[in-house]
Amino acid sequence: MIDSQFDLVVIGGGPAGIAATSTAASFGLKVAIIDERATFGGQIFKRLGEGFAIQSPDDLGKDYARGARLIDELDQPRISKFTATTVLTIEANQIITSHPVEGVRSFNPKALVIAPGAYDRPVVFPGWTLPGVMTAGAVQTLVKTQQISPGKRIFFAGSGPLALAFSAQLIKYGAPVFKVIESAPFPSPAKLLGLLSSVNGNWDLAGDALRYRSTLLSKRVPFHYGRIIIKAEGSGRVEEVTHARVDRDWNPIPGTEVVESADTLCLGYGFFPSHELFRLLDCNFDYDETRGGFTVAKDHWGLTESSSPIPIYAVGDGTGVTGSYSAEAQGRLAGLHIANHLGSLSTTERDTQSKGFLKELNQRNKFQRAINKMFEVKQGIYQLADANTVICRCESVKAKEIDPVIDSTCDLSVVKSYSRAGMGLCQARNCQRQIAAMIAKRHDRSISEINFQTPRMPVKPVEIGKIADPSIREEKYFIQ
Ligand SMILES: Cc1cc2nc3c(=O)[nH]c(=O)nc-3n(C[C@H](O)[C@H](O)[C@H](O)COP(=O)(O)OP(=O)(O)OC[C@H]3O[C@@H](n4cnc5c(N)ncnc54)[C@H](O)[C@@H]3O)c2cc1C
Repeated sequence: MIDSQFDLVVIGGGPAGIAATSTAASFGLKVAIIDERATFGGQIFKRLGEGFAIQSPDDLGKDYARGARLIDELDQPRISKFTATTVLTIEANQIITSHPVEGVRSFNPKALVIAPGAYDRPVVFPGWTLPGVMTAGAVQTLVKTQQISPGKRIFFAGSGPLALAFSAQLIKYGAPVFKVIESAPFPSPAKLLGLLSSVNGNWDLAGDALRYRSTLLSKRVPFHYGRIIIKAEGSGRVEEVTHARVDRDWNPIPGTEVVESADTLCLGYGFFPSHELFRLLDCNFDYDETRGGFTVAKDHWGLTESSSPIPIYAVGDGTGVTGSYSAEAQGRLAGLHIANHLGSLSTTERDTQSKGFLKELNQRNKFQRAINKMFEVKQGIYQLADANTVICRCESVKAKEIDPVIDSTCDLSVVKSYSRAGMGLCQARNCQRQIAAMIAKRHDRSISEINFQTPRMPVKPVEIGKIADPSIREEKYFIQ
């Protein structure tokens, strides 16, 4: 079924997607918002899982209330909501989705907003695939939505503002984090001054950071700068973690290793934008390691350059990680631009209404840039694996199996064909940058010069029966 009734389709129901949807709908546009999760809110505004009754919403913190207000904006008659619906591909102007019960559906709108968010940056080192090694996002989801702590002795290794935020949040939720290491050095006075000069318009975030720091101090949880995780060991699950001091490039300094016992290792080294759909659309990209590597190129309205017959807007963390306030402002700006583009809002009115959001976006971005300078991700993060480390966890491909292939190619798609690395369920979301870094090192190039694997549909796993035509029988391949 092709659904052509919508002016706009928005992919992603986090702050960016919700803001774009409700803004565009408030000017009379008919909008469909699609998210693969069961509820809207995205990463930051995850709702409690099924079966929980909320006695006092205030106890769930200010993020919960902000999320509830935002999600309520979707209750407008011109908005159609599609949850548990995964976008599998976009072909020309057709967005193809799959739902576990309702099956495949196609949308054919006049404009498209893609707001797919980001995911935890995978860090590859010996032992990273052991049970008990978890990304911060996964641990956060467990404690936030199910109120379950993954362990009794949690070691937190990471970098950037969310390493501080996550570890403090986990402690608040009752998860026993006993130590935190941060790979960046203690910020220099110049970097702190840079941060102070950009704090205007960001007092809420600065206040949050101080509260997170004081949570760790009050619980006497040590926080060490300039250290990185190098190994996790245990029989069947994590029992010990090893970390070491780093040099300027985050390479571990021999002789500085410390071994600690832990039953959970939580990793929070930042995020990678989910750019699969932008790659399918052949959008242009920039590169910024600290914002997650490749980031889609766009103007301040979110409009991308692509060969698609309809305008494609990219907003939120999926375009480079800048946080939820910036994501929301980006969504509002895209919504205003689309309303103007489709004739529901005059250009003068669009420009008047966008002023406040542009100001907020500039202030938020300035603050984020100052933070990024304090926590620049260095290339040592890609140098932690040894020959026996599994690089592609979906297909269990080790470094020593990829090594001979990269001798003769710089092409990730060739590495995939020869070694199966990147061919599995996650479609290289976890291993692609690591392999790119191995290629870059071997061929003396920069990681930004190593292009993506060729993007393929479906961008997310789907049952073959949902997308295949059951009337086609091919005896040669399928046994009845
Ligand atoms: C794991 C994690 C935890 C975070 N925790 C915090 C925190 O505690 N505090 C904080 O301030 N910030 C946090 N952040 C950052 C914050 O979540 C983001 O800045 C903010 O949510 C960005 O909003 P967004 O709308 O761009 O993306 P998101 O909120 O990530 O929303 C994107 C949505 O798109 C959907 N989606 C993606 N691909 C598809 C597809 N193919 N089909 C259908 N739906 C799709 C996803 O299900 C998701 O709901 C976290 C980020 C991550 C990745």
